[in-house]
Amino acid sequence: MHILIVGATVLPMTASSADSTKYYTGTVGISDGRIVFVGPTEAVREDESHFRQTHPDDLIILDGKDQLLMPGLINLHNHVSMTLLRGYADDMALMPWLTEKIWPFEAKMTAEEIYWGARLGIAEMLLGGTTTFVDMYWHADEVIRAARESGIRGVICPTFVGSNYDTFEQEALRILQDPTLKNDPRIRVRLAPHAPYTCPPDTLRKAMSLCERFGVGIHTHVSETQDEQRMIRETYGKTPAEHLRDVGLFEYPTLAAHCVYLSESDLEIFSRYNVAIAHNPHSNMKLASGIAPVTRMRAHGLAVGFGTDGPSSNNDLDMWEEMRTGSLLQKVSTGDPCALSAYETLQMATVDGARAIGMEGELGIIAPGARADLLLIDTRRAHLTPCHDWIANLAYSAKASDVDTVIVEGRILVQDGSLCGTDLTKLREEASRCVTSIESRL
Ligand SMILES: [Zn+2]
Repeated sequence: MHILIVGATVLPMTASSADSTKYYTGTVGISDGRIVFVGPTEAVREDESHFRQTHPDDLIILDGKDQLLMPGLINLHNHVSMTLLRGYADDMALMPWLTEKIWPFEAKMTAEEIYWGARLGIAEMLLGGTTTFVDMYWHADEVIRAARESGIRGVICPTFVGSNYDTFEQEALRILQDPTLKNDPRIRVRLAPHAPYTCPPDTLRKAMSLCERFGVGIHTHVSETQDEQRMIRETYGKTPAEHLRDVGLFEYPTLAAHCVYLSESDLEIFSRYNVAIAHNPHSNMKLASGIAPVTRMRAHGLAVGFGTDGPSSNNDLDMWEEMRTGSLLQKVSTGDPCALSAYETLQMATVDGARAIGMEGELGIIAPGARADLLLIDTRRAHLTPCHDWIANLAYSAKASDVDTVIVEGRILVQDGSLCGTDLTKLREEASRCVTSIESRL
């Protein structure tokens, strides 16, 4: 598929924070999933005419008038099938929330129900401009199936706690040895120990041997709550970061979710091992976990992006809300209104997210050779008017419902604010049917 986007306001996210010019009116050419050229209209006039001549019959042209083009958003932490638990258990502390409500419900979920939960959540993400998501769940092969059928990009992570390690290993091996996944540019796999307090060291070491054998990384929850800090201190006499370092987990590319409680020495450990971080402001607020020290993480040079976490602790998958709340939380927690600026916030959702999953230069930017994961915002909205600065409007005013068009790997998945080729009504009906069935088995 070949796509030409003309006359859009282009925000390529390739500028550093200090550059004054961050966006311009321009043209982008996309071919076979990659960006071929991008630049201001006049500067790329020759590229554009050559592109039109090369693809005279099979070129899709998108008019970018009144549209802002930017890289697709990268959601670094999710349990997408938990859309089925949206609004099921709220206003509770993490441990009773997990043990009394979430885990008993999840124990009843079948593979098919996990698939439908994922399909609905992926639809929500695509409609809001998320083009890549990192997911941690069991029956991960069903999440992979949902991602492949939906067209979204995913880093899918089969997960375990100590008691179900053997089942996990069978599933992980099935996925890691699936020959069809090796040729799928949109799906990557990592392994996901649930957390240091649910995974004994021997199970972490077994998972690490799989990482070694298959060359994949780790995704895990780390230092989410003060309770976790206390439990790990009582069991191992260390912080969670020290404990995971000493087990050897950080020898593998690691994306750690939450990290609300990190000391300066923990941050130095993360820095030394290049541990990336998924910051989940809404989930951390809703479960009263605390405020992650994002400005200190960034000062240590860590790759920090945003995640929504699962829809039962958020309760939606809207990355625009994470951006705005994330920025405001840093300002209020540091007492500094300059903390986590609008552009830095956008960087976290795009280019920094790409770095966090080892796809720097491929995702999160609009540049020749990068993968064509893009979104177009309809700028004709009351809350986006007037425009003194698109950076501020995007970080502090834009909403998921402003997303008009979404492209993943050069394929248009959302146009005019609607899913292409996916029946949202059917997804909603199937998800509701699954919930009724699970509740009858509780
Ligand atoms: Zn989580």
